[in-house]
Amino acid sequence: MAYFGWHVSSSGSFKKMAETAYKGGADTFAFFPRSPRGGKLKALDTEDILDMVSFLKEHKFGPLVAHAPYIYNLASKDDTIRKRSLDNMKEDIERLEYIAAEHPVYYNFHPGAHTGQGTHIGINKIADALNEIIGPTQNTILLLETMAGKGSEIGSNFDELAQIIESVDASDKVAVCLDTCHTNDAGLAVADNFSQVLDDFNAAIGLEKLLAFHINDSKNEKGSRKDRHETIGRGTLGLSAFKKIVSEKRVKSLPFILETPNELPGYAFEIDLLRQLESGLSLKDAEKIFDEYWKDAK
Ligand code: FE
Ligand code: FE
Ligand code: ZN
Repeated sequence: MAYFGWHVSSSGSFKKMAETAYKGGADTFAFFPRSPRGGKLKALDTEDILDMVSFLKEHKFGPLVAHAPYIYNLASKDDTIRKRSLDNMKEDIERLEYIAAEHPVYYNFHPGAHTGQGTHIGINKIADALNEIIGPTQNTILLLETMAGKGSEIGSNFDELAQIIESVDASDKVAVCLDTCHTNDAGLAVADNFSQVLDDFNAAIGLEKLLAFHINDSKNEKGSRKDRHETIGRGTLGLSAFKKIVSEKRVKSLPFILETPNELPGYAFEIDLLRQLESGLSLKDAEKIFDEYWKDAK
């Protein structure tokens, strides 16, 4: 069975995040280790972390998927920005290690943007940074996120991600998080041929490196390179795509994180619907439940 969750607010304690996720029917969640715009890490509270861990174990949560702040850029041509990103990532991982010692944690990040230097240099800068960041004994696994390809973003095709992983010494500590909205916007057939997307992933990177999903619909057409998330079933992917995704045997026990524009009731609804689809609910019955929910929610 897959794990489902969403990106919970990290304004409270770790324990609070897990409780909020559980309230919405989740058995995983994503969170920012610090403000998405950067800033300082919160004071370390190991008791809070251990409280959360026992809650996670009690309720059989899957791996957590932390998300690096958006402002980091390991590929930047500005050395100050690149160095700050690298140092902050190291700090984030040091913090996550307190969780990772007790419960599996992934640290998902946007690979970077080459800001005009070209893809090749960008990829090398990201790989060099990862070689500095990853410690020999760390338990936290880093996940490169598949990107939409807006601006000079690196990682909008699987070959670029493969090149980064191949250039990292501790490549066993690096894997991939596939964002369904981004990958559609990058031009892959997420909507109508998900099986082919997985075949392509397997050929370029190897499916054993696919460790998590960001499960989002998209406001834009395939290949738009836009990156604007939509609620499940209300975008260009549609319910049929999500039925195929959660029914795919090759990715069946991974964490699936919603980054859809919702509040708690919307996330709880989407998690429930995705779990039912995973358990074999027909597309027709899913559409009925979906129509009923959005009729009242609007
Ligand atoms: Fe992301
Ligand atoms: Fe994402
Ligand atoms: Zn996005």
